Amino acid sequence: MTGPSHRRRVGSVRPSHLMFTSGVGSLVDLPNFSVLVRGLDDWSAKESELEPINEPRLVAAVRALPGMKTVGELRPAPWRDGIDTDPKGAASRVGVPVAPFPAWLRCTACDELASLTGAVFSFENDKPRRPHDARFFHAECPKSKRRPLAVAARFVLTCVRGHLDDFPYRLFVHQGADCPKAKFPRLRMEDHGGNLGANVQIRCINCGVSRNIRQALGKRNQQNLPHCRGRHPHLSTFEVCPEDPMVLVVGASNQWFAQTLAALAVPKTGASELATKIEKHWTALEDLPQQMLAWARTNVPALADLDKWSGDDVWAAIENHRKISVVEEPQVAGYPDLLTAEWEILSAPGLPDPHDDFTMTRPGVPSDLDGLLADVVQVERLREVRALVGFTRLDAPDPDDPELVTPAPLAKSAPDWVPASEVRGEGLFLRLPEQLLADWEQRVGPSAALRAHEQAYARFRHNRYSGRIKSSFDEMAHWPGTRYLALHTLSHLLIRTIALECGYSSASLSERIYAGNADDPRAGILIYTAVPDAEGTLGGLVSLGEPRELTRLLRRALTDAMRCSSDPLCSERLPAHPADFLHGAACHVCLFVSETTCERGNRFLDRRFLVPIDDPPLALYPELP
Ligand SMILES: [Zn+2]
Ligand SMILES: [Zn+2]
Ligand SMILES: [Zn+2]
Ligand SMILES: [Zn+2]
Ligand SMILES: [Zn+2]
Repeated sequence: MTGPSHRRRVGSVRPSHLMFTSGVGSLVDLPNFSVLVRGLDDWSAKESELEPINEPRLVAAVRALPGMKTVGELRPAPWRDGIDTDPKGAASRVGVPVAPFPAWLRCTACDELASLTGAVFSFENDKPRRPHDARFFHAECPKSKRRPLAVAARFVLTCVRGHLDDFPYRLFVHQGADCPKAKFPRLRMEDHGGNLGANVQIRCINCGVSRNIRQALGKRNQQNLPHCRGRHPHLSTFEVCPEDPMVLVVGASNQWFAQTLAALAVPKTGASELATKIEKHWTALEDLPQQMLAWARTNVPALADLDKWSGDDVWAAIENHRKISVVEEPQVAGYPDLLTAEWEILSAPGLPDPHDDFTMTRPGVPSDLDGLLADVVQVERLREVRALVGFTRLDAPDPDDPELVTPAPLAKSAPDWVPASEVRGEGLFLRLPEQLLADWEQRVGPSAALRAHEQAYARFRHNRYSGRIKSSFDEMAHWPGTRYLALHTLSHLLIRTIALECGYSSASLSERIYAGNADDPRAGILIYTAVPDAEGTLGGLVSLGEPRELTRLLRRALTDAMRCSSDPLCSERLPAHPADFLHGAACHVCLFVSETTCERGNRFLDRRFLVPIDDPPLALYPELP
């Protein structure tokens, strides 16, 4: 009964939806029981009618992650239209494979608690058009002749390494020993409800002992549970695990978090159109002496591509490309860098050729915002590709450090593909003057406020790491840098203002912050729509880049930043020992945005670094426009 007969499509879930709210390793509630999405080894991806998603830059980034070197393709979740019209046709054999989990069920009539591996419960799935009616039932129920429904017993075990296991009911009720009366004792699960939290009694029918599930809950009661067995039920594997498990209730929001990487499809590597073309013709140009360049340009037909540029520009670009091909990117642990190529194209002086995946224009900086902004870019078309690279349980993956919360693998061995989705949208990119940032960094560098943020970051990492990783580690690793705080705060203010004024739901907006430092002058924010529906292409966001609109928008955002209805509590907030939250003057009322919108989980936000609410020299914009 637990074999392939249970494998079926998870209702009519959109593939993109499947990636973020559920995916490999997640539990999905069906009406009558719950299922676990199996690992990639079991996916019929190759039978899908959907083509792999083309985004070489993202493939390269995925391959840079530990254990992902073998990934060669990004594939949408397997999908075939037609299940509704032809339930037994090709579509029924393509889908996301799942298996019932947890394996323990309870009879809704007599409370008998048994595992699917026994013979107590039977399965019926006789309506191919209505897979949601599939159910388990208690055929020989002593309380009811009407084949009562058996439902999932909702307790499971998990640990910080992402393992997931059935709750050990037999061991637990017998205090870790065997039942004195039976080798395979029969159990009952009595739910007494009440509003004092879980009040579920497990009882052995054979010997009569009973124990309340409360004795397994909480840190205090971890000693009542066996060690983690290192089980990955989505892969059917077990491994050695030193952690103590804890009880999780099926349906709890911390049962599964996607770990994803996202890239915008920008014209390949080079900062400009010219660089892209040089790369395209590199085999013809690589060994060309400078004296022969002019000759080659008139005699090699393919090089007519470069006619727009002068000989000097072309030669400079060739030299530049030579340098890029030689320099090896230093390997820094952490998330792979997906932002540099985007920053280069968004900040390059020229405009790339318009393309279905990426088109941008420059309306110019409005005169009233001179000095506040260095450049405005309307990104009329963009495409974002997002890949699922792992998942975590109990805590969401850390947005700065992929290793801090241990991710679980998607497949038994190194996968050759990962699930991905793509969405199209539009965006608005603002670049800030480098000198403005550099001067501000000088002012803020020695401040107590910045020190408080840095120390909170170190505490945060220490508190998280020490429980999870026993070896030493760099407390300040992956610190996003001073200017990130100001740019990120500005991004949230704009997102909130855009949502308020323009009717976008703020959850349909995303941000990408391009923050460097004095040696790597980068200061920009991109706000874009990347949702799988039409809202992403309405042109509304792009039109906000027009001078009048943008002036109004930025003025309002900065004015709003001066006050929060939680002031002075909010405006005076700074993380101080022993607190390890990672924001200053910021809260749900004034700055936070939805989880899907923020690239850093609402960390690194502080209004005092943007506008003069506290100590004016701390503000990037000491005077409002
Ligand atoms: Zn029963
Ligand atoms: Zn017993
Ligand atoms: Zn474990
Ligand atoms: Zn606030
Ligand atoms: Zn954010």
